Order: sequence, then structure tokens, then C-alpha cells
Amino acid sequence: MIYLDNAATSMPKPPEVYAAVQEAMLSCASLGRSGHAAARKAAETAFLCRQEAGELFGTDPEQVVFTMNATHGLNLAIKTLVKPGDRVVVSGFEHNAVMRPLHHLGAQIETAGSRLFDPDDTLDAFDHAITRDTKAVICTHVSNVFGYVLPVEQVAALCRRRGVPLIVDAAQSAGILPLSLKQLQAAFIAMPGHKGLYGPQGTGMLLCGQTPDTLFEGGTGSLSASLDMPDFLPDRVEAGTHNVPGIAGLLAGIRYLKRRGLTAVRQGENALLRKLHRELRDLPIRQYYAGGTLQTGVLSLTAEGWDCEELAARLSDAGIAVRAGLHCAPMAHKCAGTLETGTIRVSLSDFTTPQEIDRFAETLGGILGN
Ligand code: PLP
Repeated sequence: MIYLDNAATSMPKPPEVYAAVQEAMLSCASLGRSGHAAARKAAETAFLCRQEAGELFGTDPEQVVFTMNATHGLNLAIKTLVKPGDRVVVSGFEHNAVMRPLHHLGAQIETAGSRLFDPDDTLDAFDHAITRDTKAVICTHVSNVFGYVLPVEQVAALCRRRGVPLIVDAAQSAGILPLSLKQLQAAFIAMPGHKGLYGPQGTGMLLCGQTPDTLFEGGTGSLSASLDMPDFLPDRVEAGTHNVPGIAGLLAGIRYLKRRGLTAVRQGENALLRKLHRELRDLPIRQYYAGGTLQTGVLSLTAEGWDCEELAARLSDAGIAVRAGLHCAPMAHKCAGTLETGTIRVSLSDFTTPQEIDRFAETLGGILGN
């Protein structure tokens, strides 16, 4: 199979990730619960993962909270800052992992709607939408549909000037673009462990610039005589047994990235994206491409006269995995004018090869009759 659905979850992972998961299952128990060797090994693995993540993302280890995925972290962040009826400003490119919790809370959602691949317009839209009664701003760093890199640093500076807390959804940027909690001074940055960080599914992290409210309560192995959750991080929001094999895999994924270097990853994906754009240029399709600093390794396309789900099914029959439809982000499609049709999304990783891009272009050309 040629796997071009890395924006959903990256596949393959670096070999050391699989090895670390297995090793943890064989040797680690539950962290923070006991003092025996297997519990200590689990605790050390978790600490190292927080430490390496903290180094990568400009924060202290205890500000790194393990979550199940990005959605879990976003729920923690949103439900800490936003109460029913509160006014919240979001970008026009948010995922349902942001929109559904806000809707469920009954928040007043103001969309800083903006044009695709136009950071000045995005910034302008936020500037106009943020008012004195805005309780929080939520901005995705990169659109999961179009790979559009939003001007998150400038949005963060705007939020600091206006005194509004910022939540960054780094689901599509963590492991690909530089990101620092200290520099942005965001309230929270949520990310999956299983996409650009090359960890296993079921992992994620929330970087906490402030202490979040609990989403659920339970045992932490700390302050056990009290019925209240501890007020310190990370215990406050890490009730129950941790996903230790997942954390061990995530640690291996982060170490892979540190060795490889984010710049090399980004440059590699950028070159492959340019190639993809070039190889598809003569096909009867529309590509949503800007390239350069405006786009990561995610490309959406539509083909005149084709239903995108049907086209994705034909590609799947030919051994190529892409994702079609609205990608849980209808607002992003609204911004780009693709809400009615959806798109085919091709998403790359550090393991995608030029040969796979060639095969994809040939296969798509064959299906489209070119
Ligand atoms: N936000 C964005 C921009 C995403 O692309 C995704 C997943 O595709 C999510 C949030 C949710 O991530 P997870 O599946 O890890 O909860």
C-alpha cells in the first residue's frame, strides 16, 4: 500500500517506536503507584517523555500532560477557559475537535473566517473579531484539509496585547513546525502523539501555560488520603492508569525527530509537496497549492465530474490510501469553497518517497483517463 493519509495518523512509524512499545509492554508496570522496579521503569519512561517533549516545545516537564489524542487535550483546554454563553473567537479552519466541544458548551462562537493561504487576511480577521468580552481565542496552527500554515505567532502576539488567553491546536504542526509554549505564551497547546511526532495511536499531549480544570477524576497515586484531585500538574489531569506503551513509543518518536531535526523533516516534506504539485499539473484536477512557507505536506484536490469519495475508493482499489470528504473540518471547506464537494486529501510524512509520489500521480492519471 502507498499510504498518503499521514494527516490522520502517520504510518509507518520509525522502527524504534514499535520496539519501544513492545519493550514497555514487557518491562513497565503502572507509574506513580508503587516503588518496585517495573513501576519505576514506567515512571522514568514517562518522565523522559515529558522532558524531551518539554525541550522540543519550550516548556517544563511538569507542564506536559499526557492525553489520549489531540481531541482530549482540546477538551481539557476549552472546558477550562470557556463557560456556557462565553464569547470565543476561532479561526475559519478549525476541526470539529474544537467546534463540537464549543457547540456542546453553548459558547457564542465568532469565526475569524478568512481566505485560504492568506495569513494577512487571517490576522486581520482575528484583529476585528476579538473584542473586550472575548474569553478565549482558538487557532489551529495548520489546516488539516489544506496544509495552510496560519500565522500563529502573530495571532499569539495579538492575544497577548489584548489580554485574551489562546489555545493552539497543533494537531498538524507538532513535529513539523517549530513551536514553543514559552514563546507564544499560550494558555494551552494541544497535540496528538500519533501524527507528526510518530508515536502510537492513543497518545497526545497538552502543554499547559496554566492549570487546567479536571475533565474526570480518579486515582493519581499522589495525595491519596484526599478526595480532591491534586492541584499540581501533571497529576491534576492525569487520573487513572497511563498508556505506558504509548508513552514509550511517543518518547521514541520524539527522539527520532530530534535526531533527524525538524528543519530536515520540513524541507523533505516541502520538496515532496513541490514534486507532487508538479506531477499532477497536467491532470484535469484542481489543486489547492501555495507551497513554500504557507503549506505543509498536505494537499487537497478536486477532479471535475468526480465524486471525491468514489475517486478515493478507486485509488484504494489501486493500493493507494488517501482521505476524501470534509475531513471533520467543514469550516475550512467553507473558506475554500469546497463545502459542497469535499476534497481528496493527500498527506505526506518523513517516510513518503518520491517513487510513491510518482506512483500516485500515474495511478490518478490512469483513473482520470489521462
Ligand atoms: N485538530 C486537527 C487540526 C486535526 O487534524 C485533528 C485530527 O485529524 C484533530 C484536531 C484531532 O486529533 P486526534 O484525532 O488526535 O484527536
